[in-house]
Amino acid sequence: MNILVINAGSSSLKFQMYNMVNEEVVASGRVERIGMDTAILSYEPVGGKEIREVDEILEHTMAIRKVLELLVHKEHGVLASIAEIDAVGHRIVHGGESFSSSVVVDEVVKKEIKRLFDLAPLHNPAHMLGIAAVEQNMPGVSQVVVFDTAFHQTMPATSYLYPIPLVLYKKHQVRRYGFHGTSHEYVSQRAAKLLGKPLESLKMVTCHIGNGASCTAILHGKSVDTSMGMTPLEGLMMGTRSGDIDPAIVPYVMGKEELTLNEVNSMLNKHSGLMAISGLSSDMREIQDAMDKGDRSAKQAFEMYEYRLRKYIGAYTAAMNGLDVLVFTAGVGENSSLLRGAVCRNLTYLGLELDEQANGKRVSGDRAISTAESRVQVLVIPTNEELVIARDTYQLIAKAAEK
Ligand code: ADP
Repeated sequence: MNILVINAGSSSLKFQMYNMVNEEVVASGRVERIGMDTAILSYEPVGGKEIREVDEILEHTMAIRKVLELLVHKEHGVLASIAEIDAVGHRIVHGGESFSSSVVVDEVVKKEIKRLFDLAPLHNPAHMLGIAAVEQNMPGVSQVVVFDTAFHQTMPATSYLYPIPLVLYKKHQVRRYGFHGTSHEYVSQRAAKLLGKPLESLKMVTCHIGNGASCTAILHGKSVDTSMGMTPLEGLMMGTRSGDIDPAIVPYVMGKEELTLNEVNSMLNKHSGLMAISGLSSDMREIQDAMDKGDRSAKQAFEMYEYRLRKYIGAYTAAMNGLDVLVFTAGVGENSSLLRGAVCRNLTYLGLELDEQANGKRVSGDRAISTAESRVQVLVIPTNEELVIARDTYQLIAKAAEK
């Protein structure tokens, strides 16, 4: 079975073509600057040469058409015909309270995703464009949607409610939803497998630390709290996002600097975090390089980033009354031994013992970085959200075919 995985943004579209016989990616790529006459399409068949084209791609339907053309291209293609694509899986950022697992797309599902536009105005409309573009190019093909929020739907009200007038939850669905759920779920299942223990027996904190960052308390396999909130702005300090701040700062700064709502939103989402404190970059590699050269602002940014992450790990340990496993994943979590080391060296009160050598090794793949004696197992597990989308799509389509 061949599954096309799509992550559609407002002006971009990433894709991976999976052969589910051995869960292998056979081709992948992205279209950027959709809507412009200089859109960029990159496509790479596994084992082949990357192709880059600059072209006028004005909307998502055209972007998908171009991708499909390449997938069946005589020279560069990986499929004989489009009919070989059995189903398409989409990443959807916001599933609200309506979706606690992945589902096959039908009219009801589409209507519900549209109803949720208000909660994710930058993301959900773009995902819908992706779904419509597939319908137009591949009429009748089965589509599945996989939500970033679904895994966190197990959170109890004590975690997901905000202590503000309850009417705002009832009228406007103001509550914590959490994001990166596909990643937190994947690494937690992988961690249990690697440790050879049932997920149901473990207290785990998973740290997805990329450009966006969140950590999740996973008690016996279920998300019981997570650092991102109603939007992906809450929680940890990130590349360009502030994470937690005193909410009273917003009206105060708006008044003092005469900012509009849009401007203050942009400040907190795009001009804060590592970028704001270092004054240099939102990219952890560049922060670390600058620190090596003695840059004090970069050091300050790094220290705040680490400190805020460590406080969350402490809070979630308290939330679960203990911690058995700590997992690091995503760009920074998988690659920055500096960050992992700084966090873990300050968690010795939990009986956590870092294996300095294992942490420092430049290797990829799943690995343990705690000592054999450590009371808390610390793992680095590369995330693979696309694989989860491909698997969910495969399973749901197979189930639907049985009926
Ligand atoms: P996204 O959230 O956009 O998917 P990623 O998960 O790819 O982001 O993470 C990007 C972040 O990972 C960037 O801050 C980047 O600097 C960081 N990163 C990637 N490789 C390294 C590395 N070797 N050392 C430190 N940070 C790294």
